[in-house]
Amino acid sequence: MKYVPVEFDPGINVTRRHPLKEFAVLFSAAIGLLIVVYLLLGMAIELAARNITVAQERWLWSLTGDAPDETMFVGGPDDDEYAWYVAYVQSLVDRIPRDMIGDAAGYDLRVRVLWDEMPNAFAVPGGEIWVTTGLLDFVESENELMAVLGHEVGHFIGRDQLEGYGRGIVAFGASLALFGQGNGLADWITGTIDLLDLSHSRSQEMAADIWGLRIAYAIYGHAGGVTDFDRRMVDFTGDAGPIVAFLSTHPGGGARIRQLETIVADEGLAVGEPIPIDRSIEEFFAAWTAENAPPADAVLHKKKRPPASDGQTGKE
Ligand SMILES: [Zn+2]
Repeated sequence: MKYVPVEFDPGINVTRRHPLKEFAVLFSAAIGLLIVVYLLLGMAIELAARNITVAQERWLWSLTGDAPDETMFVGGPDDDEYAWYVAYVQSLVDRIPRDMIGDAAGYDLRVRVLWDEMPNAFAVPGGEIWVTTGLLDFVESENELMAVLGHEVGHFIGRDQLEGYGRGIVAFGASLALFGQGNGLADWITGTIDLLDLSHSRSQEMAADIWGLRIAYAIYGHAGGVTDFDRRMVDFTGDAGPIVAFLSTHPGGGARIRQLETIVADEGLAVGEPIPIDRSIEEFFAAWTAENAPPADAVLHKKKRPPASDGQTGKE
């Protein structure tokens, strides 16, 4: 049999499409696949967040939690004289009845105070509650502050903080998978996505508000002051209104106030006189031991309100 060499098409391994077009198709397919993976992982995280134990969460956080810059916090090595600030807020958190907060009682709920003029509070994975100095200047009653702290505990009860944490990790992993480490674009994306995403959904915020009400009511026996924070935030940032509130993950303050007022009315909850914040702090000082007594000038200064409407304030 005679061997007849076959003429190969020299272009057999070369696509006839333009290489840039080819790249575009592959690139969009990769992006599409990553989006699907991201969404699936998001669902898995939601499921995991509901099933992971508090002990596991604390362990996970101890492994992966970024060591925060200590100078961000009040009561650090350089400002001992303000340690009372942290101790005061901690004393309020310590009064939250642990038998009413379910699995969240498994957290060692620790308060840290951030040097930040924006009134804000955060539930951080592992059981830390971060509040800003701006929040302490902003609230006018102990009851109002307790409702905000109760709101954050509500996020721990819902394990909301874990979902945000998981989302950040997945986004970080996706950017690494797509662009590799040390790539300029990956660095940009990593810098843009908060690894620790502490924002929550509308329904999570509404549910946490109810916990703020329940906890304040359990402590004071009345609901006085529990809507004050949201009410003043509406004056401060403006109510987004029903349409924007529906679209936004952060429900307008008006909707949140109405939700609580409806519960107070429907359940006939008593509404008493809130304890003014300055009196609350004075009483805390009176119980503060002599060694820890703050300097005479360490009073709670009411700072000027920060500029309104940047959308960064509130209870995260
Ligand atoms: Zn919140």
